[in-house]
Amino acid sequence: MNTCYTSDMQLDSKLSETFRLSEFQKKALGKLGLVTIEDLLYYFPFRYGDPNQVKRIEGLVKGDQVTIFGKVSGLKTSKAWVKKIPMSDGFISDETGKIKLVWFNQPYIAKMIREGQLVRAEGKVTERKGELYMSNPKIEAIDQIPDTGELFGKGSDDHILYPVYAETKGITSNWIFHKIQDIFRMGIIENIVDPIPEEILKKYSLPNIRTALIWIHTPKNDRDALSARKRFAFQEIFFIQLEKQKNKITWQDKSAFNIKTSTKDISDFIKRFPFKATDSQKKAIEAIVSDFRRGYPMSRLLEGDVGSGKTAVAATTIYAVTMARPDGKDYGNLQTAYMCPTEILAKQHYENFISYFNHLPIKIGLITGSECKIFPSKTDATKPTKISRAQLLNWVSNGEVPILIGTHTLIQKTVAFKHLAYVVIDEQHRFGTLQRQKLLTKNELTPHLLSMTATPIPRTLSLTIYGDLDLTLLDQMPHGRKPIITKIILPQARAQTYEEIKKELRTGRQLYVICPRIDEPDPTKELAVIAKSVTLEAERLKKEVFSEFTIDILHSKMTPQEKEKVMDKFSHGETKILVATSVVEVGVNVPNATMIIIEGAERFGLSQLHQLRGRVIRSNHQAYCYVFAESQGQKTRDRLKALTTAKNGFELAEFDLEQRGAGELYGRKQWGLSDLAMEGIKNIKMVEASRTEAMRILDEDPELKNYPKLKEALQNKNNKIHFE
Ligand code: ADP
Ligand code: MG
Repeated sequence: MNTCYTSDMQLDSKLSETFRLSEFQKKALGKLGLVTIEDLLYYFPFRYGDPNQVKRIEGLVKGDQVTIFGKVSGLKTSKAWVKKIPMSDGFISDETGKIKLVWFNQPYIAKMIREGQLVRAEGKVTERKGELYMSNPKIEAIDQIPDTGELFGKGSDDHILYPVYAETKGITSNWIFHKIQDIFRMGIIENIVDPIPEEILKKYSLPNIRTALIWIHTPKNDRDALSARKRFAFQEIFFIQLEKQKNKITWQDKSAFNIKTSTKDISDFIKRFPFKATDSQKKAIEAIVSDFRRGYPMSRLLEGDVGSGKTAVAATTIYAVTMARPDGKDYGNLQTAYMCPTEILAKQHYENFISYFNHLPIKIGLITGSECKIFPSKTDATKPTKISRAQLLNWVSNGEVPILIGTHTLIQKTVAFKHLAYVVIDEQHRFGTLQRQKLLTKNELTPHLLSMTATPIPRTLSLTIYGDLDLTLLDQMPHGRKPIITKIILPQARAQTYEEIKKELRTGRQLYVICPRIDEPDPTKELAVIAKSVTLEAERLKKEVFSEFTIDILHSKMTPQEKEKVMDKFSHGETKILVATSVVEVGVNVPNATMIIIEGAERFGLSQLHQLRGRVIRSNHQAYCYVFAESQGQKTRDRLKALTTAKNGFELAEFDLEQRGAGELYGRKQWGLSDLAMEGIKNIKMVEASRTEAMRILDEDPELKNYPKLKEALQNKNNKIHFE
C-alpha cells in the first residue's frame, strides 16, 4: 500500500498531507468538499451492498439476486414487447461472460450510461425464452472495478456489508472505503470526544461517536448500520435545535418597537377589504398584533396554502405599524419593508397596497432592480409615478415613506430607513437566511419579522428548521371559494379531457400546462432538456389539440424580460394557454386562468402537485386541475388520489414524507439538511427528543459552560455553514 501516515495525524489534518494524492485527486476531493480527515470520516455511504451478492456472470441462474461489476455495451431504447411502454436494454460483461440488462419505463437510462462504461449492476436474474437477463437493475457508473477479494475481506466475516459512497471522477467509492479504513487504523478516532452528552446517548440508546463511525462505514449487519445512521441523524437535528433555541433566546433579549394601534382601528381597516376575512386570518392578525406589544421583536412564520390570503394579514398588520408613531413623537410613521422574491410579485403587491391604503395620507414606495415608484403622484393623487432611485432613497431615509415594497434590492446598503419597525418577507423560502438577516440589521432597534410561505411541510420539519420562529397556520380558505376539481387522467382519457378543456377555453377561461419534471444527472443539462420539452409540447398542442387558441411558453432558460412579457400577455388574456415548467414559479394572480394540466404527474411529489394546482385557485370561477399520469399502476393511482381527498397542503406533505420519504418533499434543497437528517425527520420521536433535550440543556446552562464539546461543535458548525 502506498499510504504514508504518521501517528500525529489529527481530525483536522489535511487529507493532502495525510495521503499521497495526485493533483487530479486533490481537485476531485475538493469537489466533494472533502479537505480534512474529519470531512472524510463524515462522508457517509449512501447505501450498503451485500458482498455475498457479488457474482461473476458465468454461473448465474434464474432467480438470483446479484451484484455484478462489468462493462456496458449495446445500449438502446425501444418499445417493449407486449405493452407499448418505453424500454432500454443493453449488455453487461465481465471476464466470465455477458448478460442482458432490461429497463422498463426508464428510457433515460440509455442516456445516462455511456457505451463501454464500467458499472455496478444490482438486481434479479430473470429468464425469457431461455435467455437470462436482469430486469430493472439498479445501475451505477464506476471508475474502476474493485478488487472484490480485498474489498470484502475474503473469508472473514469482519464486515458483512460494504459501503457505497457517492463518487466523482477521480475518486471512487472503493478509494474512499480504503482511505477510511486507513484512518481507522491510525487510531485517530480513539481520541474523539463525543459532542453529545453521555446521558443523552444512554437515554435514547444511541451508540457513542467511535462506535457509530465504525458502524456507519463498516457495519456488521443492517442493525448496526441503522443504529449508526440514527445517531448521526439525531446529532444533526439536535445541533440544529440547539442553534435555533439559542437564536430564540438571543432574539428575546433584544428590544423592539412597541406598537399599540387600537383594536378598533384595526378592525375598521379589515372592514375595508372587498371581502370578509376568514377566522384564520383574524386569528393570525391577533397573534401578530399581540406580538407587537411584547417588548421584544416578533419572529413569526405565517404558513398557508396558496390563495389562503396571506397578503391581507400582512397588509392589516402593516397598517397597525404605519399608524404607530415613533417613540416619543407625535408625528411621523413607523416604517415597513415588504420583500418579494420577484419583480412581478413586487409590482402586483404594490398595486394592491395602493388600493388598501389610498384612504390614508401616506406615501408608498416601490423599489426593484429596474425601477422606483412613489404613490401618490404629485399630478394625480390616485396614481403612482416613477421617480429616481436617489429621490426614493432620500425619502425612505428621512422616514417619509412608511411602506416600501421591493425585491431583494431592499437589502442593499444604500437603502436606509429612519424607523424600520416591521419586515415582511413574502415567499420566505425563496430567500437565504443571510438575506433576511441583512434586512433585520438595518436599524439599531430590531424590527418585527413576519415571514410568509406557502410551502407545505411536515410538522417535524417545521419544528426543526423553523425552531426559532413562532408559527401561525392559515388553514382555512376564503369563503365562497369553490374547491378545485382535481381529476386524475389516465392515458386512454386524454382525448376526451382535451375536449372538455376546449369547452372551457371557448367560454373565455385560460389554461396552464405544466411539463413533467425531468431529472438529469447533470443539472445544467436539465434546464436545457426542460426548455426543450416545453417548446415541443407547445408545438404539439398547437398542431394537434388547441389550434384555435393562442399558446405561449415560459421556462427558466428565458431572460427576466422575456418572462415578464409572456406573463403580461397571459395576465391580460392575450394568450389563452401557457405551457410552462414546474421550475418556473408562476406566483402571479391570473384569476381568469382556471385550468391547469400537469403532465407526468407521477414524477412529482404530492405537495408539489398541490403547490402547482394552487395557481388556479385565484377566483370564484370553478377551477380544474387535470393530473395526467403516464403510469397506470394501482400504486400511482392510489397516491395521486390523495390529491382529491386531502384537506390541505400540510396533509399532503405528511403523506409524501410517509410514502416516498423525505427526498420527495418540495423545496428540500433550500433547507440545507443532509439526506441522513432528512430521513431522521420521518421520526417524530427523534425530532421531539432532540428538541426537548436542546431546550433542557439551554435552560440549565445557556452558555453551555458544562458542555465544552457541544459548544465547540456548534461553533464549528456555524463556521462551516455557508449561506448561498
Ligand atoms: P396567498 O396566501 O397565496 O398570498 P393572496 O393573499 O394573494 O394569497 O390572496 C389570494 C386572493 O384571495 C386575492 O385575490 C385576495 O384578494 C383574496 N382574498 C384574500 N382573503 C380573502 C377572503 N377572506 N375572502 C375572499 N377573498 C380573499
Ligand atoms: Mg402570496
